[in-house]
Amino acid sequence: MTPPSNPINLNDPATRDALHARLRFYRDLGIGEFYRREVDSALWAQPNPQSEPQPAPAQTQATPPAPPEQLFPQLNQEIDIAPRKPFPAAPAQAEPVPPEQHFAALKLIREEIGDCTRCALAKGRNKLVFGDGDPNAKLMFVGEGPGADEDASGLPFVGRGGQLLNNMIGAMGLKREEVYIANVVKCRPPNNRTPEPDEAHTCSPFLFRQIDVVRPKVIVALGQTAVTYLTGEKRPLSAWRGTVHPFRVGAKLIVTYHPAFLLRDPNQKKHAWADLQIAMRELGLTSPARK
Ligand code: SF4
Repeated sequence: MTPPSNPINLNDPATRDALHARLRFYRDLGIGEFYRREVDSALWAQPNPQSEPQPAPAQTQATPPAPPEQLFPQLNQEIDIAPRKPFPAAPAQAEPVPPEQHFAALKLIREEIGDCTRCALAKGRNKLVFGDGDPNAKLMFVGEGPGADEDASGLPFVGRGGQLLNNMIGAMGLKREEVYIANVVKCRPPNNRTPEPDEAHTCSPFLFRQIDVVRPKVIVALGQTAVTYLTGEKRPLSAWRGTVHPFRVGAKLIVTYHPAFLLRDPNQKKHAWADLQIAMRELGLTSPARK
């Protein structure tokens, strides 16, 4: 096969950003995992013992395919193929706090986080994005992590994705101030990459504590990363969507697409709206258009 005349240059930051964006698009769509795959190199060099029928030993054996890291040494620099570590258990659920003390309890969590350097994301952040909204909200949105606009402002979902989230909240008949919004990680990952597992595991206990204080009736997980680290289970987004999942503090967990994904593929908005209607049903809300 003739090699492409214009090979992909992974040393070019713009190319890398474009590839990351494309990978995130497919991942948010729920199509497999393109990075962080477990790859056991030995499997590539051994016949599959379960394949039937077993071929008779040949005089000359075909050369086994080379391990992927030999085939694509350049990709190996960019793609983490380290074995996946098991998810740590979520912290034990905290005792409920009286509603009038929710604000103070959240403030205490923020003070405990402080000028956090518990994970590597501290290095690149401008502002830590703790969370925003009503400390007694019945509805909570959980995203992945801050982007550039959030990193600059210290508030979650204020960029284009935030505008879309505001519109989604408005379509549900609510105001943004009536919900609570937080992310799995509170500092911006470089180049808006997906948080590394150790970063998410280090930061997410604070998110769980925020959930335990706010005690929303419904939590909407925005995208694959949010639902993965909320539940500790890796499943395609399609396996989560369309169903109500019981969650800690008696909340109902509903899963939909991340607004950034919906900006990239507006055709999926109707499916996100169907997810939000499940949330509305759980909250006893009626769409303003149907009042
Ligand atoms: S992402 Fe979370 S754990 Fe990491 S530095 Fe920021 S606040 Fe700390």
